Amino acid sequence: MQISCNTTSPNFGPRPKGQKPDMLLLHYTGMKTGGDALQRLCDPAAQVSAHYLVEENGDILRLVEEDQRAWHAGVSCWAGDSDINSCSIGIEIVNPGHEWGYRAFPAPQMRAVTQLCLAILSRHQIPAERILAHSDVAPLRKEDPGELFDWAGLANAGIGLWPRNTPDTTEVTADSFLAALQRYGYDTDLTTPGAAKNRAAVVAFQRHFRPGLFDGAIDKQSCQILGSLLSQLDARA
Ligand SMILES: [Zn+2]
Repeated sequence: MQISCNTTSPNFGPRPKGQKPDMLLLHYTGMKTGGDALQRLCDPAAQVSAHYLVEENGDILRLVEEDQRAWHAGVSCWAGDSDINSCSIGIEIVNPGHEWGYRAFPAPQMRAVTQLCLAILSRHQIPAERILAHSDVAPLRKEDPGELFDWAGLANAGIGLWPRNTPDTTEVTADSFLAALQRYGYDTDLTTPGAAKNRAAVVAFQRHFRPGLFDGAIDKQSCQILGSLLSQLDARA
């Protein structure tokens, strides 16, 4: 795996003292071209960045050192923590996104993403359930990297948590779904079940773990998938 360090971004700061990255956050760039995205990620006026950019041909650029705090998450929340930039490593994956012609991620690009994730995981203690989509931590604002992103393929390579076809020890029902989603890490409002953020969290969950149908309806299969994920966490605890 070749990583180019010829281009760097000025948009970063120090991580809080003693804080080590324990989350991996995946994005798509959501701009017309990879060149546009690179320019923006390195533009001081834009005030955004990521640690890595992965081009559609598989080229990997390191824009910010892993021990620095890059600016990619924006207003977000996971497991009660709303300073996601401080705890995470961010990877921007070139794709026009839903605004400019969302398309499949080419195989060379996915191979590069896989190799990069494995390398990062070898350097940092990042639990499987904290390998997340931008949409997971900002469901009301973000859709990336989106339903065409191959999370199942990454899970096959040992990256991220994925539902299994084994009987669940942790039962999730429609009634307990939002609480279970919150236990998993999503930001839900349990006092207002009809809140817009709750539906957005369900959609984000489905987009990640059941990309074929992300309508926000809490159906039986969604309950089973979440049950399987929580069972794997509980088995480890
Ligand atoms: Zn993003």
